[in-house]
Amino acid sequence: MNTNDYLRLLPKTELHCHFASTMSAAQLIAFADREGVVLPTTDPALLFNFTDLADFLEAFRAAHQVLTTADDFAQVAYDGVRAAVAAGSVRYREYAINPQYFAPRGIGYREILDPIIDGLRAAQTDLGVGFRIVVAINRHDSPADAVQLVETMVANPLPEVVALGQDDLTPELTEDPARFADAYALARRHGLRTTAHAGERHLDSAENVRVALDVLKVDRVDHGYMIVEDPELTERARESQIPFAATPLSTTICSGWTLDHNHRIAQMVRAGLNVSFSTDDALFFRTDMAREFQEAIPAFGLDLDDAKNIALAGIDGAFCDDDEKRSMRAQFTAQIAALDAALADTPTSR
Ligand SMILES: [Zn+2]
Repeated sequence: MNTNDYLRLLPKTELHCHFASTMSAAQLIAFADREGVVLPTTDPALLFNFTDLADFLEAFRAAHQVLTTADDFAQVAYDGVRAAVAAGSVRYREYAINPQYFAPRGIGYREILDPIIDGLRAAQTDLGVGFRIVVAINRHDSPADAVQLVETMVANPLPEVVALGQDDLTPELTEDPARFADAYALARRHGLRTTAHAGERHLDSAENVRVALDVLKVDRVDHGYMIVEDPELTERARESQIPFAATPLSTTICSGWTLDHNHRIAQMVRAGLNVSFSTDDALFFRTDMAREFQEAIPAFGLDLDDAKNIALAGIDGAFCDDDEKRSMRAQFTAQIAALDAALADTPTSR
């Protein structure tokens, strides 16, 4: 066993992954062909060349146009879990699902959620991968639409749907967290957990993270990298240990950042923040959970102890029940001990 094997086999959660991005490239191309959705190219080697976040979002929106039937949703759900287990030893996942992308085609909330949950439950039975669902506000749509989405969530309670989040950008290509304050307040009033994408790009700010914390009162932050520009807020986050779901590889595409010691995620880890890793959009960023760890850990100047802490931080930040967390923590700890022993037994491992 070498360090790359270790990082691949390390048990992982993934808290920040958008459902449509768990599709395989082959599925995307086949569904697009069937639905008459024109992709820029059908060459998977060229299909995912993006210049920035806005460029990527065009393709992300197109991916939602190809998912239509209950079988599509269930199949993508099931196959996506199988792929994540094989590629990166994912043991638990939280999916951001944006019903607003499907609404213009008349596909309703339950028509999306029910088959996805069926597929994920089947995968849980077969592969032991737990899951929860975060319904995502489309920031491209209005604050009133976001409130209506939360009303739909509340009117259609599903045990696996536990939180409100968000995706896309506002029409002005900003984050503007405060815009959706009413939707978040409503979600909290109904006992839903909350998370928000904030402080993701160099174009965004630590102030957006502050607004997510103080106005939206989120339980977790997606991205949040710009927090390191504000030492006082960083210290607050260290004290509170609010979880951050960070996505290293995506930052190389959405912000053009280099994975190095000075990367903002590396700074967050060194500052003692509660950071876990996710892929965000595995399909589009051509990544998986193994690659996130294998590339980011050494590039950030982190070691295997940091990698273990990052893997375990995903349990802290998860929106599942405490019993499930305890059981996951016991499993992860046992598997990590076995990996440590296997690595120690390999003379040339380090
Ligand atoms: Zn995201």
